[in-house]
Amino acid sequence: MIWFVGAGPGAEDLITVRGQKLLQEADMVVYAGSLVNPKLLANCKKNCEIHNSAYLTLEQVMNFMVKAERQGKRVVRLHTGDASLYGAIKEQMDWLDRENIAYEVCPGVSSFCGAAAALKAEYTLPDVSQSVIITRMAGRTPVPERESIRSFAAHRATMVLFLSTGLLKELTRELLMGGYSKDTPAAIVYRATWPDEEVHLCHVGTLEETARKNNITKTALIVVGDILDSDYRRSDLYHPEFATEFRPAVSEHIDKG
Ligand code: SAH
Repeated sequence: MIWFVGAGPGAEDLITVRGQKLLQEADMVVYAGSLVNPKLLANCKKNCEIHNSAYLTLEQVMNFMVKAERQGKRVVRLHTGDASLYGAIKEQMDWLDRENIAYEVCPGVSSFCGAAAALKAEYTLPDVSQSVIITRMAGRTPVPERESIRSFAAHRATMVLFLSTGLLKELTRELLMGGYSKDTPAAIVYRATWPDEEVHLCHVGTLEETARKNNITKTALIVVGDILDSDYRRSDLYHPEFATEFRPAVSEHIDKG
């Protein structure tokens, strides 16, 4: 059995309890060294075989894992954040299917959740935005034309951009062409939840300048949308006049004291 485990966004105590247990029991760990906090590996057994996949091809990663699994070893493939986002796990799972090897996935805290925590933001505010668009600028990996930033920007929903910090000029152009104004609130969150985390609030029109001034070129998320600075409607769920499955409506307002 091979486990794909989400390591969380950075801080070593943001892995799940299940993920931590799997790491402690593993005989082999292949971790994504570019973004996984190496302190997590302190949980591994002394004789655990550890490989950094940053130095390996898919073929090498799979050969290590398949061989170990066939020897009856417990294998963990440790991915940054949650493996379902830009994690390249599908090609590994398909490979294991072809080899008839069983696997499971343990979710992780994605960096977009780490960024919301750093910003103390709620991505979905009533009357402002009820959707989060998670996307990226095209890099070496192309983005389908129908998913252009420009087309998403037209929705004016909350947007979180991965893998795009090096392309802020083009990103800004796309956001503006899609319908965001220059003064739409934006933020750059660098290394969310790591000890050297940085949060920079700015606007769509000042994204590039803000990154340049703070020397941020990678390992950051760009958050765009009015949720960062806007009036909103209070929730119905917690409104005294709103009945739920768990609580009747109360007509009078209850004083805080
Ligand atoms: N699966 C990961 C994303 C991997 S793609 C997840 O769920 O978070 C790598 C990109 O994620 C980086 O280029 C950066 O845009 C973003 N990223 C990963 N960790 C980050 C962090 N701690 N703070 C800000 N951005 C991060």
